[in-house]
Amino acid sequence: MRIIFLGPPGAGKGTQAQFICQDRKIPQISTGDMLRSAITEGTKLGLEAKKIMERGDLVSDDVILGLVRERLRQPDCEPGCLFDGFPRTVGQADGLNEANIAVDVVFELQLSDELIVRRISGRRVHEPSGRIYHIEFNPPKVDSLDDVTWQPLVQRHDDSEAVVRARVEVYREQTAPLIDYYKNSSVKYFEIDGDATVEEIRTSIREGLVSTEA
Ligand code: ADP
Ligand code: ADP
Repeated sequence: MRIIFLGPPGAGKGTQAQFICQDRKIPQISTGDMLRSAITEGTKLGLEAKKIMERGDLVSDDVILGLVRERLRQPDCEPGCLFDGFPRTVGQADGLNEANIAVDVVFELQLSDELIVRRISGRRVHEPSGRIYHIEFNPPKVDSLDDVTWQPLVQRHDDSEAVVRARVEVYREQTAPLIDYYKNSSVKYFEIDGDATVEEIRTSIREGLVSTEA
């Protein structure tokens, strides 16, 4: 099964992706995480992507499609995968179709602009593992430290309020057209209230997956 999580920054895609990938034993394909790894490794792609990401703009479709196609050739993707934050443009969705990579189900996580900013400004991450916290909504056991390794948590460079507002605008303009794109396709589509609790959202997604398989 191939699953897409669609939704604005802060909607909870990464948080939910971690549960569902564990449940289903499928890899999480987060293009944001892949780009951040390239930046950490200091590759040419990373250097180019860094400036774009710091502005809140999108990396080009060609680069993203190249990364995703290469990732999908790995054997762990054979049983399926969960796309988290991809596709983000109609061009990227067309690219999947053209490569005959069929998607089974889309979950759209919806969140108001006001909540997006609160979610993003309080987000903290443990970079090596990708574990996600929130200073108010999902705090670590010890302030600013990862629950498992006790290593420090960090705030992403692009999680400042100014950049978040730019990212939301980019979402509305370039990514939101994918809502109708997938609603008008044969792919199963679920709208999820991103303002519910983490557990409620997890249950809705699990139910959606069961009904997709039926
Ligand atoms: P996305 O991947 O869509 O950008 P994240 O999963 O990183 O979103 O979540 C953004 C922030 O909101 C994180 O700090 C996370 O801990 C928090 N969060 C995620 N889901 C919820 C929820 N249902 N209720 C409250 N806070 C949440
Ligand atoms: P969030 O979880 O907050 O939605 P991501 O980690 O998915 O953010 O993405 C961070 C940044 O990486 C984006 O603002 C964008 O610059 C870049 N990026 C990630 N995925 C894509 C994609 N599919 N297409 C273009 N740019 C992307």
